[in-house]
Amino acid sequence: MSIEIRNISKRFGNFVALDNINLDIPTGELVALLGPSGCGKTTLLRIIAGMETADEGDILFSGADATHLHARDRNVGFVFQHYALFRHMTVFENVAFGLRVKPRKERPSDADIKRRVMELLGLVQLDWLADRYPSQLSGGQRQRIALARALAVEPKVLLLDEPFGALDTKVRKELRRWLRRLHDDMHISSVFVTHDQEEALEVADRVVVMNHGKIEQIGSPDEVYSSPASPFVYQFLGNVNVFHSRQQGCYAEVERQEVAERATAFVRPHDIDIARVASEGSLQATVQHVHPIGPVVRVELLHGNEIVEVELSRERHESLQLAVGQAVWFRPRQMRVFGADDQPR
Ligand code: ATP
Repeated sequence: MSIEIRNISKRFGNFVALDNINLDIPTGELVALLGPSGCGKTTLLRIIAGMETADEGDILFSGADATHLHARDRNVGFVFQHYALFRHMTVFENVAFGLRVKPRKERPSDADIKRRVMELLGLVQLDWLADRYPSQLSGGQRQRIALARALAVEPKVLLLDEPFGALDTKVRKELRRWLRRLHDDMHISSVFVTHDQEEALEVADRVVVMNHGKIEQIGSPDEVYSSPASPFVYQFLGNVNVFHSRQQGCYAEVERQEVAERATAFVRPHDIDIARVASEGSLQATVQHVHPIGPVVRVELLHGNEIVEVELSRERHESLQLAVGQAVWFRPRQMRVFGADDQPR
């Protein structure tokens, strides 16, 4: 089922939580709503689910107006960060719940419910836990059961609100890959909310970056990471060095892009090269810190009064042999310049 979100706005009192949101999600796409706390992600998800009504705008499911459709008639399944599984029910009964409460005419037979539940538990690879109670499961297992439960009623749309937020990094990573596979197998449209940029970039087909109730950018993970449409997107999606044109030295860098006005250059740490000797356009700095982190080495340089973060490969770092206090020269390989109006130049 495709989802069209047209001119959706939502206020809570005087506070504008969503400001004219437009988004088209084709059938089978996995979309991440990404943004800082309070930017309106959950509100938008709840409006898609029918748990919240918009003040303005329309929602269409497969081209048909669903704006005023009751949540239970929307064919959506959802999973929350702290999904309340029923504590007094076994895993099997939790997953069966949505099928058992269907109106009598649509309710499958007990044998069909059993087959369906065991199939879903197999899909989330937890069929061996069918007789356990939620309190006897790990956090990751609980979220997988919550997903199986949401999928039991065969939704056409799956909505997930920070589904892995409460779990540790390793389990989160596993579940992300697993969600991706599950989504592809089911061929449903999914929307998930996250404030974790790595999660959004790793899992989603498209990322919707939100800020203050507005969409800042919609694009593939590669587009939003490599070609951010605004300074906000740049800073939200990973580490970045910000050089203001009034800064000495960096001014020259910005000027090279032929920007006459006041402007700001954004450079990712891995887009900066360090050398032991000066070259044209390079800037001088002193090595402040050297932190090897897994496969990369993070280097902090002091340039004037500013800290510049650089990320080098281990090999590059080994060939440079940097030491704290050493004078070096650095040069951005790639940068993006935004004008005072926050538009790219
Ligand atoms: P988080 O990542 O912290 O969950 P979010 O991006 O999901 O944030 P929302 O939950 O959509 O943000 O909330 C958006 C804004 O609307 C917040 O400032 C929040 O305080 C406000 N808000 C949400 N629900 C209500 C409500 N029922 N009444 C008043 N204000 C609300």
